[in-house]
Amino acid sequence: MEITAVRFEHETLGQRVIFGSGAAAENLAREVERLGAPRVMLVAGESNTAAADLAPVLRPVVWFHDVAQHVPADVADRARRAAADAQVELVVSIGGGSATGLAKAIALTTGLPIVAVPTTFAGSEATNVWGITESSRKLTGVDARVLPATVVYDAALTLGLPRELVVASGLNAIAHGVDSLWAPRADPITQALALEGIRALQDGLRAITAHPTALEGRERALYGGYLSAVAFASAGSGLHHKICHVLGGSFGLPHAQTHAIVLPTVLAFNGPAVPDLEARAAAAFGAPTADGGLRELRDELEAPRALRDYGFAESDIDEAAAIILPQVPDSNPRPVAKSDLVAILTAAWAGTPLDQKEDARA
Ligand code: NAD
Repeated sequence: MEITAVRFEHETLGQRVIFGSGAAAENLAREVERLGAPRVMLVAGESNTAAADLAPVLRPVVWFHDVAQHVPADVADRARRAAADAQVELVVSIGGGSATGLAKAIALTTGLPIVAVPTTFAGSEATNVWGITESSRKLTGVDARVLPATVVYDAALTLGLPRELVVASGLNAIAHGVDSLWAPRADPITQALALEGIRALQDGLRAITAHPTALEGRERALYGGYLSAVAFASAGSGLHHKICHVLGGSFGLPHAQTHAIVLPTVLAFNGPAVPDLEARAAAAFGAPTADGGLRELRDELEAPRALRDYGFAESDIDEAAAIILPQVPDSNPRPVAKSDLVAILTAAWAGTPLDQKEDARA
Protein backbone atom coordinates (compact mmCIF):
# COMPACT_ATOMS: atom_id res chain seq x y z
CA MET A 1 0.00 0.00 0.00
CA GLU A 2 1.29 3.44 -0.90
CA ILE A 3 1.79 5.68 2.10
CA THR A 4 1.22 9.35 1.41
CA ALA A 5 2.54 12.28 3.41
CA VAL A 6 -0.82 14.07 3.45
CA ARG A 7 -2.15 14.04 7.00
CA PHE A 8 -4.15 16.80 8.62
CA GLU A 9 -7.13 17.68 10.81
CA HIS A 10 -9.33 20.50 9.57
CA GLU A 11 -12.27 22.17 11.24
CA THR A 12 -14.80 24.03 9.11
CA LEU A 13 -16.88 26.61 10.97
CA GLY A 14 -20.63 26.43 10.44
CA GLN A 15 -22.07 29.65 9.12
CA ARG A 16 -24.71 30.76 6.65
CA VAL A 17 -23.49 33.21 3.99
CA ILE A 18 -25.80 35.15 1.71
CA PHE A 19 -24.38 37.05 -1.24
CA GLY A 20 -26.40 39.49 -3.30
CA SER A 21 -25.64 42.98 -4.58
CA GLY A 22 -28.48 45.39 -3.86
CA ALA A 23 -30.31 42.69 -1.89
CA ALA A 24 -29.17 43.35 1.72
CA ALA A 25 -32.56 44.66 2.86
CA GLU A 26 -34.55 41.65 1.67
CA ASN A 27 -31.88 39.17 2.79
CA LEU A 28 -31.67 40.77 6.26
CA ALA A 29 -35.44 40.75 6.71
CA ARG A 30 -35.51 37.07 5.74
CA GLU A 31 -32.73 36.20 8.21
CA VAL A 32 -34.34 38.01 11.15
CA GLU A 33 -37.56 36.13 10.38
CA ARG A 34 -35.73 32.80 10.00
CA LEU A 35 -33.88 33.22 13.29
CA GLY A 36 -37.16 34.06 15.04
CA ALA A 37 -35.54 36.89 17.01
CA PRO A 38 -37.40 40.14 16.33
CA ARG A 39 -35.85 42.22 19.18
CA VAL A 40 -32.84 43.46 17.26
CA MET A 41 -29.88 45.47 18.54
CA LEU A 42 -28.20 47.31 15.68
CA VAL A 43 -24.48 47.91 16.10
CA ALA A 44 -23.31 50.49 13.57
CA GLY A 45 -21.57 53.85 13.59
CA GLU A 46 -23.88 56.86 13.36
CA SER A 47 -22.41 57.98 10.05
CA ASN A 48 -22.75 54.57 8.41
CA THR A 49 -25.12 55.22 5.51
CA ALA A 50 -25.71 51.50 4.94
CA ALA A 51 -27.04 51.23 8.49
CA ALA A 52 -29.30 54.25 8.00
CA ASP A 53 -30.71 52.62 4.85
CA LEU A 54 -31.23 49.21 6.46
CA ALA A 55 -32.52 50.32 9.91
CA PRO A 56 -36.17 50.62 8.75
CA VAL A 57 -36.11 46.94 7.76
CA LEU A 58 -34.70 45.91 11.15
CA ARG A 59 -36.74 48.24 13.39
CA PRO A 60 -34.10 47.83 16.14
CA VAL A 61 -35.05 48.14 19.81
CA VAL A 62 -31.57 49.63 20.36
CA TRP A 63 -29.15 51.24 17.91
CA PHE A 64 -25.71 51.28 19.55
CA HIS A 65 -23.57 53.86 17.72
CA ASP A 66 -20.41 53.98 19.75
CA VAL A 67 -18.17 51.88 17.47
CA ALA A 68 -14.37 52.21 17.84
CA GLN A 69 -11.38 50.26 16.51
CA HIS A 70 -10.03 47.37 18.60
CA VAL A 71 -13.16 47.33 20.85
CA PRO A 72 -12.33 49.30 24.01
CA ALA A 73 -13.44 47.29 27.09
CA ASP A 74 -15.60 50.10 28.51
CA VAL A 75 -17.52 50.38 25.22
CA ALA A 76 -18.09 46.60 25.23
CA ASP A 77 -19.45 46.82 28.79
CA ARG A 78 -21.86 49.62 27.88
CA ALA A 79 -23.06 47.74 24.79
CA ARG A 80 -23.69 44.58 26.85
CA ARG A 81 -25.69 46.56 29.40
CA ALA A 82 -27.73 48.17 26.60
CA ALA A 83 -28.48 44.71 25.15
CA ALA A 84 -29.59 43.37 28.53
CA ASP A 85 -31.72 46.44 29.36
CA ALA A 86 -33.60 46.16 26.05
CA GLN A 87 -33.97 42.34 26.25
CA VAL A 88 -32.33 41.99 22.87
CA GLU A 89 -32.65 38.66 20.99
CA LEU A 90 -30.36 39.27 18.01
CA VAL A 91 -27.40 41.56 17.30
CA VAL A 92 -27.05 42.89 13.75
CA SER A 93 -23.74 44.59 12.96
CA ILE A 94 -23.45 46.82 9.92
CA GLY A 95 -20.01 48.21 9.15
CA GLY A 96 -16.36 47.24 9.08
CA GLY A 97 -14.42 45.02 11.44
CA SER A 98 -14.96 47.46 14.33
CA ALA A 99 -18.77 47.08 14.23
CA THR A 100 -18.47 43.29 13.84
CA GLY A 101 -15.93 43.24 16.68
CA LEU A 102 -18.29 45.05 19.06
CA ALA A 103 -21.13 42.66 18.16
CA LYS A 104 -18.73 39.79 18.96
CA ALA A 105 -17.90 41.31 22.37
CA ILE A 106 -21.63 41.38 23.16
CA ALA A 107 -22.10 37.78 21.98
CA LEU A 108 -19.10 36.61 24.00
CA THR A 109 -20.82 37.22 27.34
CA THR A 110 -24.50 37.04 26.35
CA GLY A 111 -24.52 34.22 23.79
CA LEU A 112 -26.76 36.33 21.54
CA PRO A 113 -26.66 35.37 17.85
CA ILE A 114 -25.13 37.81 15.35
CA VAL A 115 -26.05 38.64 11.79
CA ALA A 116 -23.11 40.54 10.27
CA VAL A 117 -23.42 42.91 7.32
CA PRO A 118 -19.85 43.85 6.33
CA THR A 119 -19.09 47.13 4.59
CA THR A 120 -15.31 46.66 4.36
CA PHE A 121 -13.14 43.66 3.39
CA ALA A 122 -11.89 43.08 6.98
CA GLY A 123 -13.27 39.53 7.16
CA SER A 124 -13.97 39.46 10.92
CA GLU A 125 -17.48 38.23 10.07
CA ALA A 126 -16.08 34.84 9.00
CA THR A 127 -14.05 34.14 12.12
CA ASN A 128 -14.67 32.98 15.70
CA VAL A 129 -11.92 35.34 16.93
CA TRP A 130 -12.77 38.18 19.30
CA GLY A 131 -10.62 41.10 20.48
CA ILE A 132 -11.07 43.59 23.32
CA THR A 133 -8.59 46.31 24.31
CA GLU A 134 -7.97 47.33 27.89
CA SER A 135 -5.09 49.41 29.29
CA SER A 136 -3.32 49.47 25.89
CA ARG A 137 -3.26 45.67 25.64
CA LYS A 138 -5.45 43.89 23.12
CA LEU A 139 -6.77 40.60 24.44
CA THR A 140 -7.96 38.15 21.83
CA GLY A 141 -9.54 34.75 22.04
CA VAL A 142 -11.44 32.13 20.11
CA ASP A 143 -15.03 31.31 21.04
CA ALA A 144 -17.79 29.63 19.06
CA ARG A 145 -20.34 32.13 20.46
CA VAL A 146 -18.81 35.06 18.55
CA LEU A 147 -19.01 33.49 15.07
CA PRO A 148 -21.89 35.29 13.32
CA ALA A 149 -24.78 32.93 12.57
CA THR A 150 -25.24 34.59 9.20
CA VAL A 151 -23.25 36.97 7.00
CA VAL A 152 -25.14 39.13 4.52
CA TYR A 153 -22.84 40.45 1.78
CA ASP A 154 -23.97 43.23 -0.53
CA ALA A 155 -21.27 44.84 -2.68
CA ALA A 156 -23.38 48.01 -3.06
CA LEU A 157 -22.80 48.72 0.65
CA THR A 158 -19.08 49.22 -0.02
CA LEU A 159 -19.62 51.97 -2.60
CA GLY A 160 -19.15 54.70 0.03
CA LEU A 161 -15.86 53.33 1.32
CA PRO A 162 -13.15 55.89 0.54
CA ARG A 163 -10.52 54.71 -1.96
CA GLU A 164 -7.70 54.66 0.65
CA LEU A 165 -9.81 52.35 2.84
CA VAL A 166 -10.72 50.09 -0.08
CA VAL A 167 -7.00 49.63 -0.69
CA ALA A 168 -5.96 49.22 2.96
CA SER A 169 -8.88 46.93 3.80
CA GLY A 170 -8.34 44.87 0.64
CA LEU A 171 -4.66 44.39 1.51
CA ASN A 172 -5.69 43.47 5.07
CA ALA A 173 -7.81 40.73 3.48
CA ILE A 174 -4.87 39.59 1.32
CA ALA A 175 -2.86 39.41 4.56
CA HIS A 176 -5.40 36.90 5.95
CA GLY A 177 -4.72 34.78 2.88
CA VAL A 178 -0.92 35.07 2.90
CA ASP A 179 -0.55 34.46 6.66
CA SER A 180 -2.88 31.43 6.40
CA LEU A 181 -0.33 29.71 4.16
CA TRP A 182 2.00 29.10 7.11
CA ALA A 183 -0.06 29.79 10.26
CA PRO A 184 0.01 27.18 13.06
CA ARG A 185 -2.96 25.12 11.80
CA ALA A 186 -2.41 25.66 8.05
CA ASP A 187 -3.41 22.65 5.96
CA PRO A 188 -4.16 21.94 2.28
CA ILE A 189 -7.73 23.22 2.69
CA THR A 190 -6.80 26.55 4.27
CA GLN A 191 -4.05 26.94 1.65
CA ALA A 192 -6.50 26.33 -1.24
CA LEU A 193 -8.99 28.82 0.23
CA ALA A 194 -6.24 31.36 0.86
CA LEU A 195 -4.79 31.15 -2.65
CA GLU A 196 -8.20 31.51 -4.33
CA GLY A 197 -8.90 34.38 -1.93
CA ILE A 198 -5.66 36.16 -2.86
CA ARG A 199 -6.42 35.71 -6.58
CA ALA A 200 -9.95 37.10 -6.23
CA LEU A 201 -8.87 39.99 -4.01
CA GLN A 202 -6.16 41.23 -6.32
CA ASP A 203 -8.50 41.00 -9.35
CA GLY A 204 -11.20 42.75 -7.35
CA LEU A 205 -8.97 45.54 -6.07
CA ARG A 206 -7.64 46.23 -9.57
CA ALA A 207 -11.20 46.30 -10.95
CA ILE A 208 -12.42 48.65 -8.20
CA THR A 209 -9.55 51.03 -8.93
CA ALA A 210 -10.33 50.99 -12.66
CA HIS A 211 -14.13 51.21 -12.25
CA PRO A 212 -14.92 52.55 -8.77
CA THR A 213 -18.68 52.77 -9.26
CA ALA A 214 -19.12 49.29 -10.77
CA LEU A 215 -20.10 46.39 -8.51
CA GLU A 216 -18.21 43.52 -10.20
CA GLY A 217 -14.81 44.30 -8.65
CA ARG A 218 -16.40 44.83 -5.23
CA GLU A 219 -18.20 41.48 -5.46
CA ARG A 220 -14.92 39.79 -6.36
CA ALA A 221 -13.13 41.50 -3.45
CA LEU A 222 -15.86 40.53 -0.95
CA TYR A 223 -15.74 36.93 -2.20
CA GLY A 224 -11.92 36.88 -1.89
CA GLY A 225 -12.08 38.58 1.50
CA TYR A 226 -14.51 35.94 2.76
CA LEU A 227 -12.38 33.02 1.51
CA SER A 228 -9.22 34.47 3.01
CA ALA A 229 -10.93 35.08 6.35
CA VAL A 230 -12.31 31.51 6.39
CA ALA A 231 -8.76 30.29 5.77
CA PHE A 232 -7.46 32.52 8.58
CA ALA A 233 -10.17 31.31 11.00
CA SER A 234 -9.05 27.69 10.49
CA ALA A 235 -5.31 28.26 10.16
CA GLY A 236 -4.89 30.67 13.10
CA SER A 237 -2.59 33.67 13.46
CA GLY A 238 0.83 33.49 11.85
CA LEU A 239 3.81 35.80 12.24
CA HIS A 240 2.17 38.66 10.32
CA HIS A 241 -0.92 38.73 12.54
CA LYS A 242 1.13 38.52 15.73
CA ILE A 243 3.10 41.60 14.63
CA CYS A 244 0.04 43.62 13.59
CA HIS A 245 -1.86 42.63 16.72
CA VAL A 246 0.84 44.23 18.89
CA LEU A 247 1.11 47.31 16.67
CA GLY A 248 -2.66 47.86 16.87
CA GLY A 249 -3.25 46.94 20.52
CA SER A 250 -0.14 48.40 22.17
CA PHE A 251 0.77 51.26 19.83
CA GLY A 252 -2.71 52.30 18.63
CA LEU A 253 -1.95 51.95 14.91
CA PRO A 254 -4.89 51.74 12.47
CA HIS A 255 -5.77 48.13 11.67
CA ALA A 256 -6.08 47.90 7.90
CA GLN A 257 -3.22 50.28 7.05
CA THR A 258 -0.88 48.47 9.45
CA HIS A 259 -1.62 45.12 7.78
CA ALA A 260 -1.17 46.67 4.35
CA ILE A 261 2.29 47.98 5.28
CA VAL A 262 3.66 45.04 7.28
CA LEU A 263 2.59 42.28 4.84
CA PRO A 264 5.35 42.70 2.21
CA THR A 265 8.08 42.55 4.84
CA VAL A 266 6.73 39.31 6.36
CA LEU A 267 6.23 37.77 2.90
CA ALA A 268 9.81 38.69 1.98
CA PHE A 269 11.02 37.17 5.27
CA ASN A 270 9.05 33.88 5.20
CA GLY A 271 8.55 33.28 1.47
CA PRO A 272 12.05 31.95 0.65
CA ALA A 273 11.75 29.39 3.47
CA VAL A 274 8.71 27.72 1.82
CA PRO A 275 9.52 27.67 -1.92
CA ASP A 276 6.50 25.51 -2.92
CA LEU A 277 4.02 27.77 -1.19
CA GLU A 278 5.87 30.83 -2.45
CA ALA A 279 5.49 29.52 -6.02
CA ARG A 280 1.74 28.90 -5.54
CA ALA A 281 1.30 32.38 -4.05
CA ALA A 282 3.25 33.83 -6.97
CA ALA A 283 0.82 32.09 -9.36
CA ALA A 284 -2.10 33.56 -7.40
CA PHE A 285 -0.55 37.01 -7.78
CA GLY A 286 0.09 36.23 -11.49
CA ALA A 287 3.76 37.18 -11.06
CA PRO A 288 7.17 35.45 -11.17
CA THR A 289 7.49 35.79 -7.35
CA ALA A 290 4.90 36.34 -4.62
CA ASP A 291 6.98 39.16 -3.15
CA GLY A 292 7.23 40.88 -6.55
CA GLY A 293 3.51 40.33 -7.27
CA LEU A 294 2.48 41.93 -3.99
CA ARG A 295 4.84 44.87 -4.51
CA GLU A 296 3.48 45.45 -8.03
CA LEU A 297 -0.10 45.37 -6.75
CA ARG A 298 0.74 47.74 -3.89
CA ASP A 299 2.42 50.19 -6.30
CA GLU A 300 -0.56 50.08 -8.66
CA LEU A 301 -3.01 50.69 -5.81
CA GLU A 302 -0.82 53.40 -4.22
CA ALA A 303 -1.05 51.46 -0.97
CA PRO A 304 -0.12 52.88 2.45
CA ARG A 305 3.68 52.88 2.52
CA ALA A 306 5.25 53.34 5.93
CA LEU A 307 4.27 52.92 9.59
CA ARG A 308 5.96 56.25 10.37
CA ASP A 309 3.14 57.91 8.38
CA TYR A 310 0.63 56.46 10.89
CA GLY A 311 2.23 57.54 14.16
CA PHE A 312 4.67 54.68 14.83
CA ALA A 313 7.96 56.08 16.11
CA GLU A 314 11.36 54.63 15.26
CA SER A 315 12.07 54.64 19.00
CA ASP A 316 9.13 52.21 19.51
CA ILE A 317 10.68 49.49 17.33
CA ASP A 318 12.74 47.82 20.04
CA GLU A 319 9.86 47.66 22.55
CA ALA A 320 7.46 46.35 19.90
CA ALA A 321 9.93 43.62 18.90
CA ALA A 322 10.29 42.59 22.56
CA ILE A 323 6.49 42.29 22.99
CA ILE A 324 6.06 40.36 19.73
CA LEU A 325 8.92 37.86 20.20
CA PRO A 326 7.28 35.53 22.78
CA GLN A 327 4.12 35.42 20.64
CA VAL A 328 5.80 34.21 17.44
CA PRO A 329 4.35 30.78 16.53
CA ASP A 330 6.81 27.87 16.74
CA SER A 331 5.45 26.74 13.36
CA ASN A 332 6.80 29.79 11.53
CA PRO A 333 8.64 28.57 8.41
CA ARG A 334 11.93 29.98 9.71
CA PRO A 335 13.18 30.81 13.18
CA VAL A 336 12.58 34.38 14.30
CA ALA A 337 15.05 36.23 16.52
CA LYS A 338 14.44 39.64 18.06
CA SER A 339 16.88 41.10 15.51
CA ASP A 340 14.65 39.71 12.69
CA LEU A 341 11.63 41.46 14.19
CA VAL A 342 13.63 44.67 14.48
CA ALA A 343 14.56 44.33 10.79
CA ILE A 344 10.93 43.67 9.77
CA LEU A 345 9.62 46.58 11.87
CA THR A 346 12.34 48.90 10.64
CA ALA A 347 11.51 48.15 7.01
CA ALA A 348 7.78 48.64 7.72
CA TRP A 349 8.46 51.83 9.69
CA ALA A 350 10.49 53.30 6.83
CA GLY A 351 8.46 51.82 3.96
CA THR A 352 11.46 50.11 2.37
CA PRO A 353 11.94 46.50 1.28
CA LEU A 354 13.19 44.18 4.02
CA ASP A 355 16.58 43.62 2.39
CA GLN A 356 17.29 47.37 2.38
CA LYS A 357 16.96 47.68 6.15
CA GLU A 358 20.36 49.32 6.54
CA ASP A 359 19.25 52.12 4.20
CA ALA A 360 15.97 52.42 6.12
CA ARG A 361 17.63 54.08 9.09
CA ALA A 362 19.65 56.45 6.90
P1 NAD B 1 -13.35 49.87 10.69
O1 NAD B 1 -14.47 48.95 10.90
O2 NAD B 1 -12.83 50.60 11.87
O3 NAD B 1 -13.73 50.88 9.52
C1 NAD B 1 -12.78 51.87 9.12
C2 NAD B 1 -13.50 53.18 8.80
O4 NAD B 1 -14.29 52.99 7.64
C3 NAD B 1 -14.44 53.64 9.89
O5 NAD B 1 -14.35 55.03 10.02
C4 NAD B 1 -15.82 53.25 9.35
O6 NAD B 1 -16.85 54.09 9.84
C5 NAD B 1 -15.62 53.46 7.87
N1 NAD B 1 -16.47 52.65 6.99
C6 NAD B 1 -16.68 51.32 7.07
N2 NAD B 1 -17.45 50.92 6.04
C7 NAD B 1 -17.72 52.02 5.30
C8 NAD B 1 -18.44 52.24 4.07
N3 NAD B 1 -18.97 51.23 3.40
N4 NAD B 1 -18.51 53.49 3.60
C9 NAD B 1 -17.89 54.51 4.25
N5 NAD B 1 -17.17 54.37 5.39
C10 NAD B 1 -17.09 53.13 5.90
O7 NAD B 1 -12.06 49.13 10.04
P2 NAD B 1 -11.85 47.65 9.50
O8 NAD B 1 -10.50 47.67 8.92
O9 NAD B 1 -12.98 47.19 8.68
O10 NAD B 1 -11.84 46.76 10.81
C11 NAD B 1 -10.82 46.88 11.76
C12 NAD B 1 -11.19 46.18 13.07
O11 NAD B 1 -11.62 44.85 12.80
C13 NAD B 1 -10.02 46.08 14.03
O12 NAD B 1 -10.44 46.33 15.34
C14 NAD B 1 -9.58 44.62 13.87
O13 NAD B 1 -8.91 44.12 14.99
C15 NAD B 1 -10.88 43.93 13.60
N6 NAD B 1 -10.74 42.66 12.84
C16 NAD B 1 -11.00 41.51 13.50
C17 NAD B 1 -10.90 40.30 12.85
C18 NAD B 1 -11.24 39.03 13.57
O14 NAD B 1 -11.21 37.96 12.99
N7 NAD B 1 -11.62 39.11 14.83
C19 NAD B 1 -10.52 40.26 11.50
C20 NAD B 1 -10.27 41.47 10.84
C21 NAD B 1 -10.39 42.68 11.52
